Amino acid sequence: MRPLISRLLSVRRSLPLFLTVMAGLAVWQVWLTWRLMEQDRNLAEQRARERLEQVADLALAQLNSTLGAWELNLREPETLTPAGTVILLSLPSGAATVPARPLLFVPAPPGGVPLPDGAFDAAERLEFRQQNYAAAVEALRPLVERAETRAEALLRIARLERRLGHADAAFAAYDRMTGETAVSPDGAPYALIAEGALCEMAAQACAQLRAALLAGRWPLRRETFEYYWGTKDEPPKEAVAFAERVSRLFEQWRQAGASFSGRRTEPDGSLLLWQAMPSRLAAISIPAGWLDVALKLPANAGDIRWRPESTAAGRYVRRSLAEAQLAGRIEFYSVARSMNPGPGRVLWLAGAAVMLLLVVGGAYAMHRGVSRELRLAQLQSDFVSAVSHEFRSPLTSLRGIAELLANDRIADESRKRQGYVFLERETGRLQRLVEDLLDFGRMESGRKQYHDELLDVLGITRAAVAEFREEAAQAGFEVDLQLEDRTAPIRADQEALRRAIRNLLENAVKYSPDCRTVWVEGHVNHSRVAISVRDRGIGIDAREQREIFRKFVRGSAAKRAGIKGTGIGLSMVRQIVEACGGEIRLESAENAGSTFTIVLPLAESGGTKA
Ligand code: ADP
Repeated sequence: MRPLISRLLSVRRSLPLFLTVMAGLAVWQVWLTWRLMEQDRNLAEQRARERLEQVADLALAQLNSTLGAWELNLREPETLTPAGTVILLSLPSGAATVPARPLLFVPAPPGGVPLPDGAFDAAERLEFRQQNYAAAVEALRPLVERAETRAEALLRIARLERRLGHADAAFAAYDRMTGETAVSPDGAPYALIAEGALCEMAAQACAQLRAALLAGRWPLRRETFEYYWGTKDEPPKEAVAFAERVSRLFEQWRQAGASFSGRRTEPDGSLLLWQAMPSRLAAISIPAGWLDVALKLPANAGDIRWRPESTAAGRYVRRSLAEAQLAGRIEFYSVARSMNPGPGRVLWLAGAAVMLLLVVGGAYAMHRGVSRELRLAQLQSDFVSAVSHEFRSPLTSLRGIAELLANDRIADESRKRQGYVFLERETGRLQRLVEDLLDFGRMESGRKQYHDELLDVLGITRAAVAEFREEAAQAGFEVDLQLEDRTAPIRADQEALRRAIRNLLENAVKYSPDCRTVWVEGHVNHSRVAISVRDRGIGIDAREQREIFRKFVRGSAAKRAGIKGTGIGLSMVRQIVEACGGEIRLESAENAGSTFTIVLPLAESGGTKA
């Protein structure tokens, strides 16, 4: 036994060192793999960044060349390819767009045309000096027939008819005037004047005017446009902005002269490119979204995209559009998922983790195994010393009494008799102990043979209690027996069963130092019979109640109380009961006592009243 224990102890001592080394190796491997993966990730990150930089450079170079090409196209602006509006300005007053787009007002509209000398003198005299409006109208009628005076004549007729209260006639005159193309001496087109007047006269005419203004029917100065537009509501912002853009461009061109060229992004996101030529300025305004057309990523860009400068988080490369002589910045970013370590690395990491798990799991299993072995070795060693003790003390007493009797040193007959009774009782006890040990050995090696007899378990219990009562009485104990008055047939080994019951009785007495009564009860319930042995002794800790039926195991309360024992009794009881097809139950609480109950199945024939 000792060499085994010392071997186990030495294994136990070197085990932590071994496990520490293994765990250290596993941790090191995991750490190493982790570092390698980190390195991989950084490398991939760096590569992605370099690629983004490269793509951004290429894209901007391409943007520049597209813009350059568009500018080159401005030399023949009428054939421009990108979807935009070409603005053509010419001195002194020309402003046109391709494709044609109305201009609400133009930078330099055509000036007024003076009236033919003296043509209106007669009519003016009648109107202003004589206040004879009807005659004035008549004087004007012939002028309506002449092309160069028609528009002005109609205007005056309409004015006079209104004064005369002839709305219809005024309306007709104005209406006729709206078809005129002539411009009045102060630069206002007659048709516009007529429309304005009609607008006053009729709401429909007003709408007509608005439409004409919006359609850019006449080249107008801004003030003229605003005047005729009126103040009730704003003209469409976009149209105003466009006209303003054209006017601004014209002003800048006039100041800068032939060297005037450039590009810029407008507040509405559109792009304006312009270039002055000796006699005219060509410009193109491309609506917002022009960058999508101009900025083409190289074919190998794959997952790379661009977007205007943003506050979005993540990895991107930012580029200023200053390189393309424009304001603003754009970002290049990748839509690919973040860099993942290669499958090889993941496998390696997983392997390292599994190894770590195995080492930890193995260490735990080894620790449990070695602990269990050590515990069993300890229990066996306790058992050997307990058995020796069980033999040594009675043998010493037996030897003493036997010597006294043999040498005839006890004269008193009654004391002699006590000596003989003692001899008989102790040798009986030793014999039972030896039989128990032999039986235990047989059970352990599987050689124990059980007889299969039909027995009355209540009868056997009664007999076992009767036999034990005498012995118990000598120790000052009383056995209270409550058995049902009937037979309870079971199939079992009589001798083994009697020994099991006796074992429980001996324990009840042994572990009940204060209460001198033990109780035995027997009940038949359906197809089962239950024999319980109860005491009010030291009890068994709840945590030990499952273990207590294993061989060599002894309760802590018994050890504390200094009550000797071998720890094989309950293990034998359980084996016997299970061999009979039954089970043993335990209810116990420390310092409150214990109840052991043997539950056995009744034999087929069932119980009968005695
Ligand atoms: P032992 O020779 O030690 O009595 P057993 O196998 O009969 O061996 O009992 C195992 C342990 O169970 C005992 O050491 C004791 O701790 C506990 N035990 C058994 N019966 C009782 C009881 N009636 N009351 C309290 N403890 C008991």
